Amino acid sequence: MSTAQDAPRTRVIRDTNPADTADVLAEVAPHTVADVARAIERAKRAYPAWRATPPPERGRVLARAAEIARSRLDELARLLTREEGKVLGEARGEVLKGIALLEWYSGEGFRLGGKTRPSEMPTTLLWTMRQPLGVVAIITPWNFPWAEPAWKVAPALVAGNAVLLKPASLTPLVAERYVDILAEAGLPDGVLTLVVGSGGDVGDALVTDPEIRAVSFTGSCEVGSGVYARAAGRLAKVTCEMGGKNAVVVMPDADLDLAAAGIVQGAFGSTGQRCTATSLAVVHRAVSRKLCDIVVDHARALVVGNGLEAGVQMGPLVDAQQLATVLTYIEAGAREGAQLVTGGRRIQEGACARGFFVEPTVFAGVRPDQRIAQDEIFGPVLSLIDVASLDEALQVTNGLRYGLTSSIYASDANTIMRFVDGVEAGMVHVNSPTVGGEAQIPFGGIKWSGIGGREMAEEGLEFFTELKSVFFDYTGRARATNIY
Ligand code: NAP
Repeated sequence: MSTAQDAPRTRVIRDTNPADTADVLAEVAPHTVADVARAIERAKRAYPAWRATPPPERGRVLARAAEIARSRLDELARLLTREEGKVLGEARGEVLKGIALLEWYSGEGFRLGGKTRPSEMPTTLLWTMRQPLGVVAIITPWNFPWAEPAWKVAPALVAGNAVLLKPASLTPLVAERYVDILAEAGLPDGVLTLVVGSGGDVGDALVTDPEIRAVSFTGSCEVGSGVYARAAGRLAKVTCEMGGKNAVVVMPDADLDLAAAGIVQGAFGSTGQRCTATSLAVVHRAVSRKLCDIVVDHARALVVGNGLEAGVQMGPLVDAQQLATVLTYIEAGAREGAQLVTGGRRIQEGACARGFFVEPTVFAGVRPDQRIAQDEIFGPVLSLIDVASLDEALQVTNGLRYGLTSSIYASDANTIMRFVDGVEAGMVHVNSPTVGGEAQIPFGGIKWSGIGGREMAEEGLEFFTELKSVFFDYTGRARATNIY
């Protein structure tokens, strides 16, 4: 593995299992700003040879990494559950998603091209070609510690860039495995370097260093808006994928059992710690009481605990700070007049005593102007809002600052299409939960949820490449051009 470390490091990041804080995975010494500067120099030296490597060959490195990762699926999933907390089935799903992204982008090595266009002039050919940017920085959050690096690093590498990856301080080990596997697959030294340390320290060093040609960030709006301003201020390319406040709309002609199952999966899967989590259910009054009852039954039946144990369906929050934030929102919900219909409590009994567990929580009768209806909570808290029509549902949904993903449960095709057309979100699901993404279709949001282009699929390559337009005149003699 390439790491940025050259000099002795002093402070330590204590990497603990959020389901059981007595389980310490590692004590990691963070890199320094000086380490980052050295890693950038090493990446600059590695870049020319990687740029010159034919893209299909670069893709083969990703394909080998995908094979290695698949052969270690169980081990990687267990590590992910211990480090981040999501239950083992979800962790396996995340590792597989990262593998699919490696596989997709390995194939892009064969397709990395431009387009040809006819010229207005005779004996002239016009075409575009995609070229790498140079040394780029990737900054990722803790909630998808394997898939997030995968969906950014894979396109950056196949495009021919040298990459510095800074994972969240809460989840450095899973990211380290990803970097190690790529090295094992044959990635040359210095092309991908892991930088571990606090965002305000080494993260900021990456964002502001003039040698870094592009910054791809995923995380909160609060941090992302600052990253965007600082990187754009020095004219680096920037993309920021940020938070979400995702709503499911339920119309009277919906299959309510299907809708309730989808809402529960979206709200409590990964303990609500997904950018795509369902945080709001905007439900037509005609069916809101019935839907609420089914959702509450499902929520109460969820088994909460250590995600490594069989039968557990919802794990802990990631750390004490996230726990405090979620409990603060639950208090605010009740104080501002919403009806707490289930959950709302920290769980500290038995096997949950040393972890950051909260009950699956549902509020009904929520007003759109309440904090729990507006802010990204990033925990297992669902708010139900009653509406009288599709227009009102769209008004509530589009009134949010965020615009990541959305969903509608309905039968009537006209209703569904009006929602698909009118909702302000980067992604729309029909009769399925707000969560999920696939390697071959663009992922990302609008408004506060994202700026700078989509990730995944071939669109994900656009950010990590520059287009060059070529004008090839094979006339062989001087002539007037078409602009005279
Ligand atoms: P965060 O606090 O914004 O941190 C994200 C990353 O930025 C971490 O690596 C962090 O490092 C780093 N960072 C912090 N301050 C920085 C600075 N001043 N300069 C440069 N980097 C800095 O977010 P998080 O709590 O890890 O993740 C949760 C958020 O991510 C949620 O809002 C969620 O919706 C969002 N998310 C969005 C998507 C999407 O695709 N839209 C996907 C997943 C998650 P440290 O860990 O050292 O602080």
